[in-house]
Amino acid sequence: MERRGAATAVEVKASKELFKEIINAGLCSLCGGCSGSCPYLVSYKGRVILMDNCNLADGQCHEYCWRTYSDLDALNQKVFGVPYGESEMGVFKEVFLARSKDPDIRRRSQDGGTVTTLLTVALAEKMIDAVVETKLDADKRPHGFLARSKKEILECAGASYEPSPVLETLNHLPKDSTDKLGFVGVPCQVSCLRKMQLNPPRNRVNVDNVKLVIGLFCGWTLAQGFHEFMKEHFDLSNAIKFDVPHSPFHTYDVYTESGKQSVELEDIRSYINTACSYCFDMTAEFADISVGSGRTAFKGWNTVVVRNKTGAKLVEKAKAKGALETQAIPEESITNLKRASLGKKKRTLENLIALSGSKKDLGYLDVSQDFITRFLS
Ligand SMILES: Cc1cc2nc3c(=O)[nH]c(=O)nc-3n(C[C@H](O)[C@H](O)[C@H](O)COP(=O)(O)OP(=O)(O)OC[C@H]3O[C@@H](n4cnc5c(N)ncnc54)[C@H](O)[C@@H]3O)c2cc1C
Ligand code: SF4
Ligand code: SF4
Repeated sequence: MERRGAATAVEVKASKELFKEIINAGLCSLCGGCSGSCPYLVSYKGRVILMDNCNLADGQCHEYCWRTYSDLDALNQKVFGVPYGESEMGVFKEVFLARSKDPDIRRRSQDGGTVTTLLTVALAEKMIDAVVETKLDADKRPHGFLARSKKEILECAGASYEPSPVLETLNHLPKDSTDKLGFVGVPCQVSCLRKMQLNPPRNRVNVDNVKLVIGLFCGWTLAQGFHEFMKEHFDLSNAIKFDVPHSPFHTYDVYTESGKQSVELEDIRSYINTACSYCFDMTAEFADISVGSGRTAFKGWNTVVVRNKTGAKLVEKAKAKGALETQAIPEESITNLKRASLGKKKRTLENLIALSGSKKDLGYLDVSQDFITRFLS
């Protein structure tokens, strides 16, 4: 593929093209990067909606959507100072298992409560003043939320497997805010944020105020009518946790105070967002630190990938304060993680090639020919 140069060099278009090329083409991951960037684009019940006609020829919605154009080298250089493609799961310093030492955080969190713990430590240490993350509304739909206290961070614990338009919350922050921000997101949300940081948007909050990025591992989200499916099959008003346990289980579980209800994964596969089949990143490769669940043998723990100094400093602080405990991860688990991450890249490259009909056209993805040869072989 001919490289197109820096991400900022891409042709600028606007909402009309955003809908034609991305949203209506099944390529939108519903990250929220475009919504809230102007008064007309909003996220509503798992969709991006244009409230009125927009006749702009160049709009920030198209410019900053990670799916219009992503130059992985430029993103990697910005965050780590090296070109993209060093390993199957991005640049990293260390991988280990971790969990919160606070039983209350563990009880309320998705896995080991590492994300919640790291955020509360970052807040207490004044590394950040607030964090943009995801919270469920009364209807159990995910939305972006600005948490300013330990109590509010705890209210965001847990996972929704529906896409959260978390970046919309960042876009809505006052332009003159000087808060040091944390951000939590799945890989597409992290990529979109980093794309904004490459060339900060005009007339919005300064995205360089984001001082800590925690990424979550992600295989897919459930969209396109999944919320309605859940309403039909589960008692959502009493739901306290959603989970997709690791193999050998193949279920989607909804927990209430009185127990667990499950459906077979096969029965909900049709709700997987089609956009996810074009996603190259499983481990949030552009985050400062990435967190996933421990595999079955380490249930209740998190797999943690520390990628740079920011992530390493925070983990050290959390351990020194007695907030986080860690243990070594078996080498075999790292090998499996790399294999899964590489598998996602291969599938994505094949899907993008099938979409364009040419090995030279990977759509939104700008990567070197070397990367394609290495990861497709
Ligand atoms: C859609 C999705 C898919 C995932 N897929 C995998 C996977 O395939 N393999 C794997 O190992 N791990 C996966 N994870 C990560 C895993 O579910 C946990 O989030 C992670 O292990 C952190 O656990 P924790 O106990 O530290 O989180 P907690 O301390 O409970 O914190 C959870 C954090 O996740 C945020 N969050 C919740 N829902 C969303 C959402 N929809 N979008 C963005 N942020 C959200 C919350 O705001 C909070 O900050 C996935 C997570 C999500 C949200
Ligand atoms: S991928 Fe994100 S930025 Fe792009 S159209 Fe969808 S919600 Fe908007
Ligand atoms: S698979 Fe990729 S595109 Fe889909 S929700 Fe996860 S990070 Fe986003």
